[in-house]
Amino acid sequence: CGIFAYLNYCVSRTRKEIFETLVKGLQRLEYRGYDSAGIAVDGDKNTTTDGINNNIIVLIKKNGKVKALDEELYKKDCMDLEVELDTHFGMAHTRWATHGEPSALNSHPHRSDKNNEFVVIHNGIITNYKELKKYLNSKGYEFESETDTEVIPKLIKYVYDNREREDLSFSTLVERVIQQLEGAFALMFKSSHFPREAVATRRGSPLLIGVRSKYELSAEHIPIQYNTAMFKEGVQEKNSHNRPDIANAVNSAEDGKAVEYYFASDASAIIEHTNKVIYLEDDDIAAVVGGKLSLHRLNRLAGEVPVRAIQTLQME
Ligand code: GLU
Repeated sequence: CGIFAYLNYCVSRTRKEIFETLVKGLQRLEYRGYDSAGIAVDGDKNTTTDGINNNIIVLIKKNGKVKALDEELYKKDCMDLEVELDTHFGMAHTRWATHGEPSALNSHPHRSDKNNEFVVIHNGIITNYKELKKYLNSKGYEFESETDTEVIPKLIKYVYDNREREDLSFSTLVERVIQQLEGAFALMFKSSHFPREAVATRRGSPLLIGVRSKYELSAEHIPIQYNTAMFKEGVQEKNSHNRPDIANAVNSAEDGKAVEYYFASDASAIIEHTNKVIYLEDDDIAAVVGGKLSLHRLNRLAGEVPVRAIQTLQME
């Protein structure tokens, strides 16, 4: 029922500070109602037993109050609390069960597999989850929860496992996934294959992005970019490529420039960090790669203006 996520790029934060930011974000959303809560963060490097995958994602999920989750965070021994993480993406969720009873197992984040290659938090309902689950089962993907949500991490892993091209971006994978989804969703994705990257999208459920940087956000809009896969002949020229002034706006997080992003279901969880926000619209896909935010559209609508305004929230 509530989403809160936080990405710090070239800004040093201890893991403890990151935990505190995530938990505080969830607490601001508690008024929406929920039955369980969970987070996904990066664990310390070299904590895997096979010694191969260094980008280990740790999930911590708890039935009941955010306070219970908060206490659980400090019990994991693979996570040094004082370690400084200068670029990290963590995401947190409060669940209001629609499919599957309230329990730690059914709470979010949900994952693609036991190695947590892709993890997802979701607000809303996937109405065609039964068909998707049946299909994914037939392809050998095993489910561990009773939720509608779990088809999403399984589906992105299926797309990833069956990709024909090696260089598919994280946002393109997400685009392929939401093409298959029916119902309502606000979604955030984290992946060990795309460390320090975040992807967010929505349809019918709200999601906004707060941006904080000591560098001036010089433009008022950021462009919508179109993933190559979605281009029709000739459409390409009309968008961001001929608007370099705008393209460098939020993207003024040029390499090495510190920027922080906050993703939330509503502004009440963001306002204490920044008043610069971008409201995502249905079928927008937002991706942060190398500290730069870009926006993509699932399908281009006729006459659509391919920018989203960076709005300034009014303090109360
Ligand atoms: N339908 C999902 C579930 O039951 C998400 C519910 C929510 O929005 O919290 O897990």
